[in-house]
Amino acid sequence: MRPESLYPLFAPVTALTGVGPRLAPLVVKAAGPHVADLLWHLPYGLIDRRFMPKIAAAPAGRVVTIRLRVDQHIPSGSSRRPYRVLCSDETGVLTLVFFHAKADWLEKLLPVGEDRIVSGTVEDFNDGLQMTHPDHVVPPDRQDEVMTIEPVYPLTAGLPAKIMVKAVHGAVARAPELAEWIDAAYLRRQAWPSWREALGQAHAPAGEADLAAATPARRRLAYDELLANQLALALVRANLRKLAGRAIDGDGRLRRKIVAALPFRLTGAQARSLDEIDADMAAPSRMLRLLQGDVGSGKTVVALLAMARAVEAGAQAALMAPTEILARQHLATLEGPAAAAGLRLALLTGRDKGKPRQKILDALAAGDIDILIGTHALFQEDVAFRDLALAVIDEQHRFGVHQRLDLAAKGHAVDMLVMTATPIPRTLMLTAYGDMDVSRLDEKPPGRLPIDTRVLPLARLDQVVGGVKRAMAAGAKVYWICPLVEESEKLDLAAAADRHRDLAAHLGPRVGLVHGKMKIAEKDAAMAGFAGKDLDLLVATTVIEVGVNVPEATVMVVEHAERFGLAQLHQLRGRIGRSDKSSTCLLLYGAPLSENAKARLNILKETEDGFRIAEEDLKLRGAGELLGTRQSGLPEFRMADLAQHGELLATARDDARLILETDADLQANRGKALRTLLYLFERDAVVKTLRSG
Ligand code: ADP
Ligand code: MG
Repeated sequence: MRPESLYPLFAPVTALTGVGPRLAPLVVKAAGPHVADLLWHLPYGLIDRRFMPKIAAAPAGRVVTIRLRVDQHIPSGSSRRPYRVLCSDETGVLTLVFFHAKADWLEKLLPVGEDRIVSGTVEDFNDGLQMTHPDHVVPPDRQDEVMTIEPVYPLTAGLPAKIMVKAVHGAVARAPELAEWIDAAYLRRQAWPSWREALGQAHAPAGEADLAAATPARRRLAYDELLANQLALALVRANLRKLAGRAIDGDGRLRRKIVAALPFRLTGAQARSLDEIDADMAAPSRMLRLLQGDVGSGKTVVALLAMARAVEAGAQAALMAPTEILARQHLATLEGPAAAAGLRLALLTGRDKGKPRQKILDALAAGDIDILIGTHALFQEDVAFRDLALAVIDEQHRFGVHQRLDLAAKGHAVDMLVMTATPIPRTLMLTAYGDMDVSRLDEKPPGRLPIDTRVLPLARLDQVVGGVKRAMAAGAKVYWICPLVEESEKLDLAAAADRHRDLAAHLGPRVGLVHGKMKIAEKDAAMAGFAGKDLDLLVATTVIEVGVNVPEATVMVVEHAERFGLAQLHQLRGRIGRSDKSSTCLLLYGAPLSENAKARLNILKETEDGFRIAEEDLKLRGAGELLGTRQSGLPEFRMADLAQHGELLATARDDARLILETDADLQANRGKALRTLLYLFERDAVVKTLRSG
């Protein structure tokens, strides 16, 4: 259970003064739902309001704080004209300008004949000075509140800066004094402040230098976040390892038959990865291995050969895919080679119910199924294997860490192989998987041609449709990807449906549509049509639906490519270029596009090396522009910036490892403090796996 000291931080943001029901959704959108989220919402700029000139000395374009006498209100008269308030001091006059403001509110805020402290940007207008929508207006006795250095926070449309500043300050004030979780000697060496001091400093910058990632306060907060991440991963790993492993060894009889049935030879990378997997399985400890390889690098066959080994040893294996379509796809791909070795495969998804499902479960328990392929339906409690020895998880970043735990619990000492197609840079790898063992398929199957990738503005859509038409006439199959943005899924689905209608009007009836909200049967039908003879073009909304293998597809169009993460675009593109025919990928962007965004898309033009793309993306992506990671499913950090704090990550990993070596259940004093840290970063699930302390 979350410690009581943290309760104030996990209250909803409405608990803060100034955040009412109207503004709360905006605060949530900008920062997050809890008070704690505001602590992690660091300022990116500051406004110095300490400059207090007389009116005559106030320079246009600069933020000033001025003491004024309110002389006269001039209501707007018409909705197009602003409301003006004439003010002065002994050196000159200044007009305050308000658009769409309520007169009675302004009369109260700026009573005629009284003095007010006003802060904002002055500007020249005709012959006089004016200030439009001052940031602050207070009576003279509250001058000190205004004449400060004000942090500037990321906002969202409609959320006044003032409210955010106040809310964050309220959150920082609620931060309790917590027992130190960083090693005392390390803390001293780094000369870092305590957690609470660090929050105070990070949110009260005194100058530009205090906004830098390298300040002690920011480094400390980044370290806290990274340590929570690494400790959580280390705990998951420790948990998986807790159950003793077992040695799985095969005699190669099934494997030989499968390999003989394959229409190709294994690549060097595939053979090497298999050796690594074999060694892990043969060892008496549990395997926890990541098989990392670009789309199309041939992970599936490696998985099959690993599973065959488990069967050779007299046990069973499971292969879990993130979606039903992918599970079916795996079954279809594996059926042929598996049959050659007499392996018995079955499929279990959420769609199987009643008697047919029971039949599968009975066969599984009796050992009449060697390899079970499915979705997360494999986790359900009543799914019992006779003897599960290997679980392969085709991750594609759809599963969380706890789901890996669930599947591992299905067998004693189940070996785990996690497959991912996301090329993760080394730094990020550590944040997503901790120190899992890794096999890399860094070599493409032979005979693949490079993909011709082009970056074009959406304005050239007509031309693109013309080109697609010609390609289809020449026998090409085409993927047409529409973006899906979380905030407005409905609109995006409508856009995809519209696009489908348009394209069908131009290109004829061999144009299909598939998206996440369709019924499974409809989806399957569309996919089957595209894989088969019925459809030549498939409009699709998300990655998942195109996570299938249609080698004949040679053209891909991506609309609003700028909305995707680079890694995701790279994965999407991997769906073409899978045959001996040359392929073309058209990335269409919505104009205007920033230089940075254009540079990102151009990386895809230059290379097909997923690892290079990922590294470049990490370099190019400024802090705060996290779209890429969010969409690829990698963890996002609020305070740690891996481009700047990368070296802290390695320290956090070593620290986490050391902690668990000496205090595996986090029972000692520092251990208890670390539990609080885990709760602070919402790793509740992982704390639950510990013995209570
Ligand atoms: P991944 O799962 O890594 O995206 P797949 O396992 O789906 O890739 O393989 C993509 C395609 O490449 C499949 O059609 C598969 O049969 C083929 N393939 C796999 N390994 C080889 C190889 N060594 N040589 C030639 N083709 C291969
Ligand atoms: Mg695959």
